[in-house]
Amino acid sequence: METLLLWLFYISTLYAFIPGLITRLFGFRVFRRGIGMNEFALTFDDGPDPVYTSQLLDLLKKYGAKATFFVVGSNAEKYPHLIKRMHEEGHLIGIHNYVHKTNWLMGPAAVKKQIQRTNKIIHDIIGSNTHYYRPPWGIVNLFDFARRNETQIVLWSSMFGDWRQRLGADRLTERMLKKLRGGEVFLLHDCGNTLGANAQAPMEMLKALERVLQVAEKQGIGTIRIDDMIQRSEAVKRESRGQKSMAAAPKETSKQKASLSFGKRIVVSLWLLWERLFHFVFQLRTTNKEEPIFHFRIRPYRGEPVMMNGDIELANGDRVLELHFDNKRLFEIGSRSRTSVQIAIQMIRGVEKTLPELAQYVQTHPELMDVKALYGVSMINRGPEQFGFTVTDLPDSFFARSTRLYLKFLMSVIHPSGGDRLKQRSSHELIPKLIVMPMELLLDKYSEDGSHRRFSGKESGEIASDQESAEPEETALSATQPC
Ligand SMILES: [Zn+2]
Repeated sequence: METLLLWLFYISTLYAFIPGLITRLFGFRVFRRGIGMNEFALTFDDGPDPVYTSQLLDLLKKYGAKATFFVVGSNAEKYPHLIKRMHEEGHLIGIHNYVHKTNWLMGPAAVKKQIQRTNKIIHDIIGSNTHYYRPPWGIVNLFDFARRNETQIVLWSSMFGDWRQRLGADRLTERMLKKLRGGEVFLLHDCGNTLGANAQAPMEMLKALERVLQVAEKQGIGTIRIDDMIQRSEAVKRESRGQKSMAAAPKETSKQKASLSFGKRIVVSLWLLWERLFHFVFQLRTTNKEEPIFHFRIRPYRGEPVMMNGDIELANGDRVLELHFDNKRLFEIGSRSRTSVQIAIQMIRGVEKTLPELAQYVQTHPELMDVKALYGVSMINRGPEQFGFTVTDLPDSFFARSTRLYLKFLMSVIHPSGGDRLKQRSSHELIPKLIVMPMELLLDKYSEDGSHRRFSGKESGEIASDQESAEPEETALSATQPC
């Protein structure tokens, strides 16, 4: 039962929750906002609608505005003339699934089908493919990331609640004007027939939009299609990257990351709440309640026998103390550190501090004396060895593969240069490995009355500088499998 629960947890977390979270938090691998431009993007979801879409197209024409439509495939099928008109009038067409259904409830094959079917419908009408995709409700799952080469996921920077009629055109106008500036991606709806929307809501939207377009015109703010916005933003990024590397000023990116916005902080706290729930369900323990670095639980080891340091064999069924790195700690370290070297040093200090605490804990809890080993999953290959861990391959399983993906995502979140860094690194360095240490070794090396209080005479400063010259990024990955 417990195993089943754990699997459910991993699968739900991996498949939907974490990717969604990372998307919202860091805009990782999705497009949400343009940079360095005076135009804003109008995007319309859920259509085409037989009543409102043609009114909207008239309005856009009147103001010379260009927009992006994320259409629902089944609607496009019913109203091909509207798709044709969008295309002919210079708007961009993207995909919003075949039926308006969340990707959380569908398997990867079903999502793929939704996208392909819609793409085919669009292709049959306008004669070309589209690879711009907005999942319903902006909810992405792991496989949406995997398909990134085929599809560009587009979310938004501003939404206004325009799907509710009672908001009214006045308040909607007010909300939209507040966000009216270059680079914004406005999310609006030209169809009110989806779950949770009001059928007549687009009427209010059209009124508000006309006023906003008038103000935009006065202020000299133009509209831009998403494809053009992405292209222009990338050019700006490339340019500024070139300038930055010439000026050699690496500080700014980490500073930006360090100051999380209010919204991001809310999401982080939701994640941490989720983690607390996990800790409660699996009754994770810690050696240090005020400043936890690791959490752990006792469970039987399942798998092939592993030969550990000191020639002790870990066999199937032996009790192990499974380590989980504290995610909150990880966030703190990640947001405080400017470079990967700093992350590495912080994490090494954390591990160094925890191992003696763990030894102490085991000694004072007689029921743990038959635990044979410390056990965790880590993505580093060299770091843990200096502490006495043996690093071995994880058997190739769905679990190993999903852990690998999860740790990759996690790493891109905590690392100062985020996902960019990951792309540069070859994949073999990101393979999760099993790390194990015999309990005897832990007690011997790290307990107060053990033969050595610290591992083989190395001081923390020395380790830190070792790491600086070695591969610091790898050490930053020394989180055992986080939950
Ligand atoms: Zn929608």
